[in-house]
Amino acid sequence: MKTPSAGDATGFASLGLAAPLVAAVAALGYEEPTPIQREAIPVLLSGSDMLGLAATGTGKTAAFALPLLDRLSRDARSNRGKARALVLVPTRELAMQVAEALHKYAKGSNLNVVPVYGGAPMDHQIRALRRGAEVVVGTPGRVLDHLRRRTLELGAIEVLVLDEADEMLDMGFAEDIDAIVAETPATRQTALFAATFAPRILSIAGKHLKTPKRVQIAQEKRAAGKLPQVRQVAFIVGKGQKVSALSRILDFESPKSAIIFCRTRIEVDELTDTLNAHGYGAQALHGGMVQKQRDRVMQLFRSEQADILVATDVAARGLDIEHVSHVINFDLPTAPEVYVHRIGRTGRIGREGVAITLASPREQRFLQYVERLTKQKIEIGKLPSEADLRKRRLEATKDAVKKQLAEGGLDETREFVESLAQEFDILDIAAAAIKMIHDGSEKAPVAPAPPQVEEVRGYEAKGGFEPRRSLEDRAPRSRVSGPMTLLRLSVGKEESIRPADLVGAIAGEAKISSSAIGAIKIHDDYSLVEIPDELAARVIAALKSTKIRGNKVTVQSKPAR
Ligand code: AMP
Repeated sequence: MKTPSAGDATGFASLGLAAPLVAAVAALGYEEPTPIQREAIPVLLSGSDMLGLAATGTGKTAAFALPLLDRLSRDARSNRGKARALVLVPTRELAMQVAEALHKYAKGSNLNVVPVYGGAPMDHQIRALRRGAEVVVGTPGRVLDHLRRRTLELGAIEVLVLDEADEMLDMGFAEDIDAIVAETPATRQTALFAATFAPRILSIAGKHLKTPKRVQIAQEKRAAGKLPQVRQVAFIVGKGQKVSALSRILDFESPKSAIIFCRTRIEVDELTDTLNAHGYGAQALHGGMVQKQRDRVMQLFRSEQADILVATDVAARGLDIEHVSHVINFDLPTAPEVYVHRIGRTGRIGREGVAITLASPREQRFLQYVERLTKQKIEIGKLPSEADLRKRRLEATKDAVKKQLAEGGLDETREFVESLAQEFDILDIAAAAIKMIHDGSEKAPVAPAPPQVEEVRGYEAKGGFEPRRSLEDRAPRSRVSGPMTLLRLSVGKEESIRPADLVGAIAGEAKISSSAIGAIKIHDDYSLVEIPDELAARVIAALKSTKIRGNKVTVQSKPAR
């Protein structure tokens, strides 16, 4: 198996990026540029203006962030502390996300990145701008606010990015954008990203871009007939809920042999560890591994000693495996073509295959692109419930019992059952034996059931989910009957905290089973959670470095009962 450029992210170096940036993306576990990065980075490095067609999830942030940082860091001494690049984005959430990505890529470069968005205190942002910010990421309204107060100055801007321009127009920012662009020098380089080249996008591009190069991922036309016959399902889940959704899917589907795709080698390693910690037999495969390790993993997977292979696209490329029953996109592929490649690994030679994709609400547009390219439908699924899982496990046990009966060779066990039958009813003996198989086959829950998007909507409509178990009105379950510590967490309804957030954060971060968590009560500005005494210190330590729904938490404790 050959994986060119896998070990050192040289794919990025060959695009012309400076060595520190290549090192930064390699350290993040990126193995190769995504299709939009491969197209856009050379164009932007050449200094041209650019009109890019790319949606969230394609890696478009790095597509503009890396050349932008490359340009600023090549001349790091000029205009130190002044705003040299401005990225306009439609929402506060995206401003934080893009600033965080820029910050990670800019590590070690002396360039400061500051996000400015509405709904956050002005003075904090003003102080950050005063300290010096070469890269400013902001929503149009707040950027204008800073311009009017003269707390931001755009006379030294070298690069301007209009990200998700269609969404900014939808939100009524057209005039704000015009006013902001008017403050920047005409010599700037401008890049505009949108999900369509609709006339209104072309019109704003015509106004603010100079003979832009158009960049879009080449869409390989593919006849629908050539695609494997695969059942395609997507589940819409929030980013923080992907692991628990995956574990439910694995329990329900119990794949004979699955490849789970992640974007980076770091994610591959983390997910493999999590799955193994919960009793799944998973092996990691990525470009950071030496050939010998990779051969060993492939040998385990081919000989069906490992049912799950967690892989990056680069590492899985060129693998020829016949028996894959499930392809699971834990992370969305970076382009529709990559999706087609991934799912082509299942449903081979007339076998039945299943392709499962986890997507966040923001990433749903990607699924529509894929449907358009493949002319096939991707069904939006509902995650299996606890009852579905139980039913599925019983069916599996029934099949296993039938198979064993057909195979025979039960003489010795029959004798054993006969001796028990002198004391007990034969049906009771069978029921007890099945229960034992059953309980033994249950895996430790990775996390509680994640809410899906419809449920989240339902939650808003109803004004909040019922607490999982309230402190007053429900006795704790038997598994949490020992001495308990009551934890007081500094987040509550005001931070839109739901029981599932607390259970997810506690179970996930402290690596304890969700069934060990006792009663939960959410108040306006704090929450109470019961934790078994022996686990309390571990939970408190884990929560110190965790954010729940983006909020830092402080934890106080006292004995509960
Ligand atoms: P974006 O489309 O910019 O929102 O990026 C989506 C996700 O892809 C982010 O989590 C990035 O960290 C990740 N990503 C971007 N470029 C790459 C790459 N070349 N390899 C792996 N992951 C990437």
